[in-house]
Amino acid sequence: MTEYRTLRVALLGAGAVGSQVADLLLKHGDELADRAGATLELAGIAVRDLDAKRDVDLPRELFTTDAETLIVGSDIVIELMGGIEPARTQVLHAIASGADVVTANKALLATHGSEVFEAADQVGAEVYYEAAAAGAIPIIRPLRDSLAGDRVVRIMGIVNGTTNYILDRMDTEGADFADVLAQAQELGYAEADPTADVEGYDAAQKAAILASLAFHTTVPLDAVHREGITSVDAAMIESARHAGYVIKLLAVCERLTAADGSESISVRVYPALVDRSHPLASVHGANNAVFVQAEAAGDLMFYGAGAGGVQTASAVLGDVVSAARRHIAGGVGVGESTRANLPAVPIGHVITRYQITLEVDDKPGVLATVAGILSEGRVSIATVEQTVIEADENTQTGGSARLVIGTHKAREQDLSETVERLAASGVVERVVSVLRVEGN
Ligand code: NAP
Repeated sequence: MTEYRTLRVALLGAGAVGSQVADLLLKHGDELADRAGATLELAGIAVRDLDAKRDVDLPRELFTTDAETLIVGSDIVIELMGGIEPARTQVLHAIASGADVVTANKALLATHGSEVFEAADQVGAEVYYEAAAAGAIPIIRPLRDSLAGDRVVRIMGIVNGTTNYILDRMDTEGADFADVLAQAQELGYAEADPTADVEGYDAAQKAAILASLAFHTTVPLDAVHREGITSVDAAMIESARHAGYVIKLLAVCERLTAADGSESISVRVYPALVDRSHPLASVHGANNAVFVQAEAAGDLMFYGAGAGGVQTASAVLGDVVSAARRHIAGGVGVGESTRANLPAVPIGHVITRYQITLEVDDKPGVLATVAGILSEGRVSIATVEQTVIEADENTQTGGSARLVIGTHKAREQDLSETVERLAASGVVERVVSVLRVEGN
């Protein structure tokens, strides 16, 4: 048997992910040692409550409530506590103590990433975070390493399993948002407080992380435009289906090039229409997928489990092996790449296609009035479908009609001002929905 150097590994947190990481580290120690070129000794597991029930049986003597002492002298610190504090303090403490850090903490990286990466840079340490975006799916390393020689143009990600599960069931069953959410909570797909998922906060954190990597730019969380899925109802899903689309909560990270060649980026999270033939349309249930378009590589799709204790543990352990290899080989860690530092533009600058659904008076001239307002607002119509909702029995007019207007590409600011003018025009009874169309 090969004799390896022993590396001391400290684990902070033994919840859904941490307990599985500890279990796999202990079960597959010999195999991991051969891959890493070092024996990975699990020195201890820091938790809040020593008596809490764990998902797997783990040696009791490994547990401690003293994370700070456990960190000192460790080569690799795995942070799986979640949240900002004390995770931030412990991660900085680990870096200052000379350890490499592995974390799955998107909330921490999206809000304090720069502070953490700078601290690591100063001492030549490395921070690994494959599990922080899209769980088990390898996407951080492909963006950071495999595509380092290319230029990423756009990322479209389904990066939140809960919302994909809800939208998918609404699509396949015609069910309403509130009913599916309640069932998702019963089945454990959604938290008791679903705000972080359904309002898009979780997806926005992941979008900030992915955009930072893809565009070599620090993207603060407040530069990410965010809309959740709570306004999506069964009628919108049905109307999307009728037009050949499915509604997905997308994290879109896009490189924009102006006429003068200057570049900026747009990072946004919102429910969008995706053509049913697009690869993202076939991402069902709680799965995640990240669709990457790069200048040379073309279209790439990364698909799989975006969450789950043992699935996420796979990504964490991959990072642990990388950290161990680096410790053995020596040298400074790969720092955060912020060389491009492209400005992030507000949502008003985004150019995309839209589907506008209106309820209008069903009388002569209304369509012409609507078309005129759109044209004045520099929004060009691609398709129009009119359905009579209620009509006078004799004339078949005089009631209400539903207009579903597909637009060519338009600027978001022009579009939203135009929709305001439509709403105030006197012929529009109600703006039912305005959805962006992504993916073409
Ligand atoms: P979790 O089940 O809530 O577990 C958190 C663990 O951290 C618990 O063991 C808890 O101890 C410990 N902890 C919390 N605060 C602590 C403190 N102040 N001092 C010491 N220990 C503390 O969380 P999780 O689902 O495993 O998630 C961990 C991280 O992975 C999070 O950043 C999350 O965003 C990320 N992640 C999770 C998933 C997933 O599917 N769950 C997927 C991708 C990424 P006690 O057990 O004693 O309370």
